Amino acid sequence: MAIPFNKPHLTGKEAHYMYQAVYNGKLSGNGEFTKKCQQFFESRYGFKKCLLTTSGTDALEMCAMLCDLKPGDEVIVPSYTFVSTALAFLREGAKVVFADSMNRNPNLDAETLETLITPRTKVIVPVHYAGVACDMDAIMSIAEKHNLLVVEDAAQAIDSYYTSNIKHRTLPLGGIGQLAAFSFHETKNITAGGEGGLLVVNDERFIRRAEIIWEKGTNRAEFFRGEVNKYGWVDTGSSFLPAEINAAFLWAQLENLDEIQNKRKQLWNCYYEQLKPLAEKGCFAMPDIPDYATNNAHMFYLTLPSLEARTALIRHLKENGILAVFHYLSLHSSPFYHDKHDGRQLPNCDRYADTLVRLPMYYDLSMDEVSAICTFIGLFCQMYVKKEDQIGRFRN
Ligand SMILES: *Cc1c(COP(=O)(O)O)cnc(C)c1O
Repeated sequence: MAIPFNKPHLTGKEAHYMYQAVYNGKLSGNGEFTKKCQQFFESRYGFKKCLLTTSGTDALEMCAMLCDLKPGDEVIVPSYTFVSTALAFLREGAKVVFADSMNRNPNLDAETLETLITPRTKVIVPVHYAGVACDMDAIMSIAEKHNLLVVEDAAQAIDSYYTSNIKHRTLPLGGIGQLAAFSFHETKNITAGGEGGLLVVNDERFIRRAEIIWEKGTNRAEFFRGEVNKYGWVDTGSSFLPAEINAAFLWAQLENLDEIQNKRKQLWNCYYEQLKPLAEKGCFAMPDIPDYATNNAHMFYLTLPSLEARTALIRHLKENGILAVFHYLSLHSSPFYHDKHDGRQLPNCDRYADTLVRLPMYYDLSMDEVSAICTFIGLFCQMYVKKEDQIGRFRN
């Protein structure tokens, strides 16, 4: 048996739409397929303005540029996240202030958030880890009180929602902060042919500048709408738009979004039902989904009692042909950042960095394969618990 950690899914229409994009005679960005994809997000989720980007990282960089940071401005980012979340803001000259995760799940801890705010704080960047919403009512209230921007890193959060008690409504993730970034990397639920992303602008004040930054600092978009009679260099920016061929690939996936999501959720539930009894015995903890959040089945993860237990589980699965992986190393103690960090301990972040493991999760995984993986995890628990009990070490 060989079960990879991830396998990109093809709906079958990708090549057809890519062929169409090529024969449309327009290969560069902002063509028909780009517009179709952007419109899809605007109408399905009510996002004000969407711009496709070449990656999620690029969408985050656009967010950081739009925040118009000055040297010394502070941006609050969870330490338990992908490098890009922090790097995008660091590149704009900001000081990154790392926040801890919650105890119950890896998302930013809103309860201690306010203690990190100083007069220089400008932005909070909640990351919806595994597509599960952060406590956005709490985060948005704190941001409003201190007049801060909120940029959602929704890279993993396509088609996931937050139930707001304040607004008495269910809100799509990526539609809550002033700005948000999605990723269509091949490891995400849907992909733009390997790399891709989306900038979401929810606050109208940022739309004009977003279009300019997207198009190398020019007012090209206004020119094509006939709003100005020539276009030129008006601001900072870069080339953030993907080629049409990538947008065409993405369109094939978006057309099948509901089917992809349904299948992923079935697999996720299959894992959940089979692993729950083991979790109840204390072998590991299950993923946490608060009442205010939905599950978009981006990821199935477990947290083990210790680093040793996680290492042993990954090894045991690998010996049986199953590739499970861990991530993220705490950013606050990374080689690049540790000497810039203010020295605060971030214990929940470090705990997830040591103990979280991600199980295989992709559209073409079968229920039988999920069951096989769960069986091997069950065997591991029996062996590991017995061994740890003998040396009196098993932590329940
Ligand atoms: C995947 C991911 C990114 C980066 O997206 P890319 O498209 O790979 O550049 C950023 N943040 C988080 C939380 C991610 O999971």
